[in-house]
Amino acid sequence: MKHYAYLYIFLLVFLCFPLTGCQSKNAVPYQTTNIAMGTTISMSLYGDGELSSTGDAVLDTLREIENSLISWRVADSEIAQANASAGSVDGFELSDTTAAYLETVLEVAKNSDGALDITLGRLSRLWDIGGSNPQVPEASEILELLADIGYEKVTLSSNTLLLPSNMSLDLGAVGKGIGCDEIYDLLRANSSVNAATVSVGGSIITYGSKPDGSNWNVAITDPRYDNSYLGILSLSGTNYISTSGDYEKYIMEDDMRYHHILDPLTGYPAQNGLISVTIVCDNGLLSDALSTACFVAGYEKSLELLKIYDADAIFVDENYNVYVTDGITDAFTLSNDVYTLQ
Ligand code: ADP
Ligand code: MG
Repeated sequence: MKHYAYLYIFLLVFLCFPLTGCQSKNAVPYQTTNIAMGTTISMSLYGDGELSSTGDAVLDTLREIENSLISWRVADSEIAQANASAGSVDGFELSDTTAAYLETVLEVAKNSDGALDITLGRLSRLWDIGGSNPQVPEASEILELLADIGYEKVTLSSNTLLLPSNMSLDLGAVGKGIGCDEIYDLLRANSSVNAATVSVGGSIITYGSKPDGSNWNVAITDPRYDNSYLGILSLSGTNYISTSGDYEKYIMEDDMRYHHILDPLTGYPAQNGLISVTIVCDNGLLSDALSTACFVAGYEKSLELLKIYDADAIFVDENYNVYVTDGITDAFTLSNDVYTLQ
């Protein structure tokens, strides 16, 4: 995983845009970089008082979500317990929060015709791209697991989740976005923070307005060249930005790139002509869910999906063309001449 790439985004956002004018007004009062949820967390907090304790609380929140909710590796997380209940007639009783998140995820699965499908847990573990034993599995193994995948086989009624046997959920596609939503709640409840940006791997929240009223400048990672970026998104206020790409976790075998975003229809890494998708919208879970869904669905189908959620996107295709949706055309500046803005 390219931890350093995220660090690089962070440095770009905060260092590459030296703020002219009054320094003291513009200086970021609290900045830190840490590891949580298996990725780099970079944050900048603006406000008064004990900002470091808020910074610690942000990290605690992310670790809590990871351990008690999302991680299938942590035996008593809700998802691990739900997975262990697969096949039981009673199902598993989720917390209100998790049930609400799952409801949204299942809705995106439906609206994307299964491009996003969190029921592929056994398949993503078989590939293990980004894990300790990544491999290109035998076609027969993939076929066997495909039979048990399908968001439409999940039943969620009020908080009771019923999973058929042999099904295992993987919330990897939405965890960081959920993290950003929880960070929003935390910051809202904390009167000492007026503005903030936190990047949780490829998912970012910009919160509130900087003291000098200037926009947030978010650098979008170059999907092909390390230590470079594609362009800058200039946004005001609270936004959620999430990027999915084939460059984050992958293995090369026989000149083929096998990356971590799987097409639930084929069981193989998605190949619909895109190498990166960035989503901008007003919800963290949705930004993350849609970035994965659009990456799998491809450019044309994604446009329909984005309309449903009033979300915007930057697509990069394999021929290095960049497509930006109307809502953020003015906000995005391409700054890399390897790519062509269409
Ligand atoms: P990242 O987590 O690296 O930022 P994504 O948000 O795109 O990237 O999520 C990718 C992760 O989601 C994979 O590592 C895997 O755990 C899971 N996943 C892969 N393909 C899909 C898919 N089609 N639908 C749902 N989850 C997926
Ligand atoms: Mg995602």
